[in-house]
Amino acid sequence: MEQQIADLLDEQEELDLPQEQLEAAEGESEEESEEESSQGEKFPKTRAARIQRLVRDAAVSRNVKDLYGGECQACGLRLVGPDGRPYSEGAHIRPLGKPHCGPDVEPNVLCLCPNCHVRLDIGAIIIEDDWSIIVRAGELGGNVLSKLKRKKEHHVHLDYVRYHREWWLEKGDPSQE
Ligand SMILES: [Zn+2]
Repeated sequence: MEQQIADLLDEQEELDLPQEQLEAAEGESEEESEEESSQGEKFPKTRAARIQRLVRDAAVSRNVKDLYGGECQACGLRLVGPDGRPYSEGAHIRPLGKPHCGPDVEPNVLCLCPNCHVRLDIGAIIIEDDWSIIVRAGELGGNVLSKLKRKKEHHVHLDYVRYHREWWLEKGDPSQE
């Protein structure tokens, strides 16, 4: 069983649910331990938890990431590991979980670096109808492109971009939170 879960997570990308939903779905079997060495050094607690996650179709994200060769559509960064493979993330514009219930389809997915993925998820960037990227929170060293990079084969849908924008504009300025 343990192994099956691990395989499933390897095979398909995971989506973390909000904490309340996780707890409701969780089997609640946790063990905590604290290690102390003979020299009296303290090591962080380890915690084993079995968590049920919403799984999504890995192929959708993979297709979008492959199309851009791992290059971030918002800042142009192409993060490459020591094995030469690019690392990028498939970011849903309209989020999958509640209350958004966005679809897991390519027009709703962007290829982003981890920073830009977070920027999108917290509303620090929003996208205009002309694909301009608006940085809403003051940040140093943030180097987003003036417009979202898009390949012609990737039909990013404006409905999702608008949903994301309206959601965050209604919530106000993230830098004021
Ligand atoms: Zn980026």
